Amino acid sequence: MGHALHKDVRERLLAETLQYVVERVPFYRGLVPSRVEGADLALTDFPLIDQKIVAQNLREFLVLDEFPDYVLTSGGTTSGGGSISFRSHQEYEAVHYCYTGHASGETPDSTKLEGFAVDIFLNANGQYWRKPAGWPHISIALEQTTHAEVIKLLIQDGLTIRERLIPALHVQGQHGAMRALTGYYVSRGFFPRDFGLRSLLLYGGHVTQVWLDRFREIWGPTATTVYGLSEFSPGNAFQCSHCNCYHFWTCWPEFLALNSDRAVVEGDARLILTSLLPFSTLQHRIRYATGDIVHLAGHCSAAGQLGFRFRGRVLSSAIAPGADDEVILSEIDLLEVAEDFSDIVRQTHAAEVNLWSDTSVPRPPFQMGYPRISLAPPIDQRNREVVVVLETTFDPSEATARATVLSERFLTNLHDRYPDLSRKLVDCGMNLKIKLNPSGGSDLRIKATA
Ligand SMILES: [Zn+2]
Repeated sequence: MGHALHKDVRERLLAETLQYVVERVPFYRGLVPSRVEGADLALTDFPLIDQKIVAQNLREFLVLDEFPDYVLTSGGTTSGGGSISFRSHQEYEAVHYCYTGHASGETPDSTKLEGFAVDIFLNANGQYWRKPAGWPHISIALEQTTHAEVIKLLIQDGLTIRERLIPALHVQGQHGAMRALTGYYVSRGFFPRDFGLRSLLLYGGHVTQVWLDRFREIWGPTATTVYGLSEFSPGNAFQCSHCNCYHFWTCWPEFLALNSDRAVVEGDARLILTSLLPFSTLQHRIRYATGDIVHLAGHCSAAGQLGFRFRGRVLSSAIAPGADDEVILSEIDLLEVAEDFSDIVRQTHAAEVNLWSDTSVPRPPFQMGYPRISLAPPIDQRNREVVVVLETTFDPSEATARATVLSERFLTNLHDRYPDLSRKLVDCGMNLKIKLNPSGGSDLRIKATA
């Protein structure tokens, strides 16, 4: 997927984009001096920008030669205002062409179809284009139990097209919706693994190992995952079959040190993204600091670029001070551990509410929502405390013995999973504090899609 976009092609698109924005995008007009003819602009000619700058100057980033088709909000968190993205239909068609080699309107021959894909989602960030007409891919919003039953029928029985039975072979879905659907199917005794699915693709939030294992057990295939930011769509990073890490194809990534704006090629790094023509036409952002940290996992020969993995948000990562550009602990590390604790509160996903509107449906033997936890990094050089907040299903101020057991078990599991953590905390002069809050007692930002 995406390998059609050779490095040379992407470099040309980047050069065209930079030239275009200094000519057309109000925010960049006059900001960056035009180079003499023949010399390309460089990314480093542009300032770093962030969500706040874009939100405060929304209209200055827009170039409307055509009417916008979609409006998306981000970063998709359930609290706090996000930024707005305007998208056009043509942008999505350009992305579709990049990944499939098919222009919109070119439909694969249905007499030769091996199978089709089912796409399961909720419009958590706004409505957007999903596929060209006739493409062998059916999108279903998980708004009612009837939708879950239709998806089950498609997986069990396929579709008969011109008297030829076409099986469902691929499932893709928003991570949060898929966890609720998985719970629903288990409670109904339906196991999609019995029907020969070939692939499972998940997007919208970090998928923990507990859930990767559970998805494989219940659906069959090992899931591949997508990393992306709704505010930068269409610009998702796909998991690579060669290096198993992630690469962007339809936007341009840069990786900068955690404590400076120096470009880095290894370790943990801040992720900076730049829009590329023609995947972005209405709203261009150059050197946009995503607020996310990734771990760089070396150069991938198949992709011709660095591979990376999501490491966490800057705001909720304990970062080693000084030159050691390393995340000591992030909320991703905590999530992996939190999955094992049933007395940590789970955020109830909208899909779960929809599927259990009929309260007679039994519940599965596992929790489906996203654990409600947070990490606050040290405030300054003097206060080096990393505060981990866990929301509990009980009142920790009343059940104090139970609270102590939970805190201790959580710390034990955390250190078991990350044996270097103690040493790293000591080296950085940091100490870890576990704080328990009753359900709803914390100001948490959880992705609506997660
Ligand atoms: Zn790769």
